[in-house]
Amino acid sequence: MTSLRLGRLDVHLAPPRVAFTGRIDDSAALADLVAHIPAGHVVLDTDGVTFVNSIGMREWMRFVRALRDRGATITLDRVADVLMTQINMIPELARNVTVTSFHAQYVCSGCGAESAPLVDAVLHATALKALQAPRLPCQECGTAMELGDFPERYLTVFRG
Ligand SMILES: [Zn+2]
Repeated sequence: MTSLRLGRLDVHLAPPRVAFTGRIDDSAALADLVAHIPAGHVVLDTDGVTFVNSIGMREWMRFVRALRDRGATITLDRVADVLMTQINMIPELARNVTVTSFHAQYVCSGCGAESAPLVDAVLHATALKALQAPRLPCQECGTAMELGDFPERYLTVFRG
């Protein structure tokens, strides 16, 4: 496993998985990363990403496009909440990628807790396609939590 630091972003390479931790902003020169990733299938794990801005998203787009141009199939796993809402807003970010799981803002009607649990997009594929977020158990009280935001903000990419 190799680790790289791009500005405020840490990258851990364990092909085919590439895991990101930190901020995707104007200091994240993601284009430099392509040369370090073997050709073929790539799994991009952004579980540890806490912040993105518009320049960071432009870098991300270039990065994904460069991988795609090499013929890679791209899976996005454990997509960070902050990245997921961007992907749903910018169609280019969602093109030719498969999201297998993602974080989303949930609220518990039982105890009022808010969290960003991981949603399994493979297990819940049918519901997500119908723009329905699955209910997930609250870590605090066990009540079934609901998505605390408009479904379009997270689920547009799954629409059939
Ligand atoms: Zn609760």
